[in-house]
Amino acid sequence: MMANDMHDTRGYMIATICPLVISPAISFMVFRQSEKLRLTLEKLNQVMHELEITNAKLFEKSSRDSMTGLLNREAFFNYIEDARARRTGSLLIIDADHFKKINDMHGHYNDDGALMAIAQCITGCIGKDDSTARIGGEEFAVFLATDDENNVKSIAETIRAAVNRIEFRTPENERVPLSVSIGGIVGLANGTIADHFQIADRRLYEAKRNGRNCVFIQSSMKSAA
Ligand code: GH3
Ligand code: MG
Ligand code: MG
Repeated sequence: MMANDMHDTRGYMIATICPLVISPAISFMVFRQSEKLRLTLEKLNQVMHELEITNAKLFEKSSRDSMTGLLNREAFFNYIEDARARRTGSLLIIDADHFKKINDMHGHYNDDGALMAIAQCITGCIGKDDSTARIGGEEFAVFLATDDENNVKSIAETIRAAVNRIEFRTPENERVPLSVSIGGIVGLANGTIADHFQIADRRLYEAKRNGRNCVFIQSSMKSAA
């Protein structure tokens, strides 16, 4: 109005009063909108946090064997690949002896209990830096965080003996003797994980041929047959 040299009282009134009347309403609307935006963002953050937790739970679940709660085969392969890059380690493969016969005699359902007892027994024999998995029907694997041969042999022997002492009984209270054969390899620094599994598997086969309920450990990759 001043630029156009309009000095009209009504004009001044409009120019002064209108903003005074409109601005609180506009400020209130802007405040309400920003408050709505803040609440929506808060909700979004909460949903994203819940999604992260759900994802982590799903990942954890997909890494576990549903019966024993141990790592499954795929997760164990990933774990061992990562673990051996960070530290020294050794591998054991543990197979329940004559499990088919046990199943046939006592029923598949009861023998799931036997598998769980074996899984718990293995878990109880290893340290906090070691890890175990169910890699097949009645087959388990253990990563030991050591490449000391005596140590590896001693832990494997402890597992074997502990499984053999399990007091597993049928619902009719009949004792079911359990035993495992163990093959292993000391030191995982050289070669691939597939090589290590193959060597440990060969030692396991030897243990089976030797009458089962025993331990066969390969010293290291270099002397692998
Ligand atoms: P070996 O001493 O040579 O290992 O004999 P085995 O009978 O244990 O081995 P084999 O490979 O011939 O049979 C494995 C049996 O393990 C077959 C099946 O009855 C049993 N088994 C595999 N998975 C499961 C499972 O999830 N639950 C139960 N109860 N039994 C299983
Ligand atoms: Mg078996
Ligand atoms: Mg088997």
